[in-house]
Amino acid sequence: MITFFNNLYRHRYDIFFTLILLLLIGLVCFFVPKNETKNILRVMENKTFDIRQNIIAKNKKVNKDIVIITVDDPSYEYLLEEYGDWPIPRNVYAQIIDYIQAQHPKYIAFDLLFIKTLNRIPGSDNELIEKFKKYDNVYTALNFDDYSHELRQPPKINKKIQSDIIIESDNIDIMKFQNCRIILPEIIEATNNIGHINLAKEDDGFIRTIPLVVNYSFLKENNYYLYMTLKLAIDYLNKYENSNISQVKIDKNNNLVLGNKKLPLTEQGEAILNWYGPSGLESDKTYTYVSLWEVIKSINAKKEGKKELIEKDFFKDKIVYIGTNIFSLSDIKTVPTSKYFPGVEIHATLLNNILDNNLIKKADLKYNLIICLILMILASYTAFKIRSVYVSLILFTLLNSTYLYYSTYVMDKYNIWVWIVIPLMLNIFVFVCSYIIKYLIKSRDFEYTYKLATTDGLTELYNHRFFQDKMKEKIKVAERNNSVFSLIIIDIDFFKKFNDKYGHQAGDAVLKHVASTLKSCVRAEDYVCRYGGEEMTIILNNINEEAAINIAQKICSTISSKKYPLTPDLEVNITISLGCAAYPTCGKTPAELIDYADKCLYYAKENGRNQVGIPNVKIS
Ligand code: GH3
Ligand code: MG
Ligand code: MG
Repeated sequence: MITFFNNLYRHRYDIFFTLILLLLIGLVCFFVPKNETKNILRVMENKTFDIRQNIIAKNKKVNKDIVIITVDDPSYEYLLEEYGDWPIPRNVYAQIIDYIQAQHPKYIAFDLLFIKTLNRIPGSDNELIEKFKKYDNVYTALNFDDYSHELRQPPKINKKIQSDIIIESDNIDIMKFQNCRIILPEIIEATNNIGHINLAKEDDGFIRTIPLVVNYSFLKENNYYLYMTLKLAIDYLNKYENSNISQVKIDKNNNLVLGNKKLPLTEQGEAILNWYGPSGLESDKTYTYVSLWEVIKSINAKKEGKKELIEKDFFKDKIVYIGTNIFSLSDIKTVPTSKYFPGVEIHATLLNNILDNNLIKKADLKYNLIICLILMILASYTAFKIRSVYVSLILFTLLNSTYLYYSTYVMDKYNIWVWIVIPLMLNIFVFVCSYIIKYLIKSRDFEYTYKLATTDGLTELYNHRFFQDKMKEKIKVAERNNSVFSLIIIDIDFFKKFNDKYGHQAGDAVLKHVASTLKSCVRAEDYVCRYGGEEMTIILNNINEEAAINIAQKICSTISSKKYPLTPDLEVNITISLGCAAYPTCGKTPAELIDYADKCLYYAKENGRNQVGIPNVKIS
């Protein structure tokens, strides 16, 4: 039992580290399946996406055929003064459409909802409706929501603006809506160019994805609607890139198939946008913005035959988006590359992505896991095989930096989003664990070498050198702390005769037995040593002379009462003689203490052996 505890004590560091490792693994297993952990990981991963997007945006060029007419703050003020409250009369938009159409644009798309308003000027809506009838390249939007059916009954929408889509994937969850704020039904009558403009904000309020298809399922039947810009993009591809897209399909791999283009979707049925940098309002590298007031002033100037603010043929062959970017009309979004990004520019970005075929695709799970595995193998290799801690730390940092570079490169070159957070976390975890294991092994090796240098091979007791070193150390500590310790010297009685009678091998076996009996008689923190030959010593921590003599007497009787089996039918008795010395009463140096104990031992031998020598007269 005592040997068991001695072993426990000796392996205390191994046990400690193993427990810590188990605890760490336990914590990981406990937390990882939880939804909160998944959310935290997702938010962190999204942030790495944003950083990568900002880095690679610098290399991207936008499609300069896309221009944006915006109701900005000056326009809003101008419109309020000219026409009163927002929304402005629809005939203004009718004039804008006519003005742009005269320059032959490719498309005009309104990121505005033409809903029923009370402050309408009679006939003004009709003017706009007429334009939708007249031109087949003008688009507008509707917006779904989940408002209560008590607030408003979900309206029926003319089936002609729905889309029949084929869904082959069983791993996709199309966004569902229960209600809708209907736009003027006459506009729906007048045109098929109507798509939804619903967005999906993520937990952190950022817009990174667009639901290209939504399901307006208020009557429990599936009614699919395409995102306005997707409708425009399909018409563009059919007209200008000779595609022949008649129906939209989502294939087994969650790609939205448009002819020979495949738009990757997430499991939530959303497209991940690839951003071109800050908004065109903040940077002239991106889309060209024109203020609505400039357009209206140009229309008026044209009527009056004056010079227009907007240059001639500015809108020729352009795809023109019209939307707002004022806070009061709440169409400012946060996106990875900008905090103030007009909703209308999100349309421009999506169209640009579809035309450039560079929507972001998430790397699939298998690929990500293989990357994790390779990184983990390399990390543990660096930890195990490199001798210098500094070199291995540098290599480990290099490995992770290379991976960060690689993850940005594949997003830039191949539009693929590989994980960063999980691989890096696992990598660091494996690196740290490998180091712990490495040092556990090292410390075991060190312990083994230390054991070889300090113990005696036959008896496994500490050797003479260790005993001498310990004595010096104990004296120093005792001096400093004013504490005591004791020394017992043990000599086996008539051992020469024993050897002569039973042979040296039997003598060795007895030596081992005696050694292990001695160890079992003292505490784990005491030191039992082989002094030389058949003489052994014990250093007893915090024990004074009187207590040492008591312990010695106990040891003496334990040894003599034991029988040592030599052969199956031969048991022998052994006796020992002992001498004790205590610091500081019996001596203050190792030599004095050993000498004192030796004299006591001699006294015991003289007095008939098998006893502790206690001279009556103090030995000088
Ligand atoms: P005493 O009671 O006076 O101590 O008698 P003793 O015979 O034990 O006398 P002494 O201490 O002089 O004898 C030491 C003997 O111990 C000599 C040697 O044969 C034996 N011895 C010393 N080391 C070993 C060892 O490693 N193995 C064996 N088998 N015997 C040893
Ligand atoms: Mg001897
Ligand atoms: Mg002896």
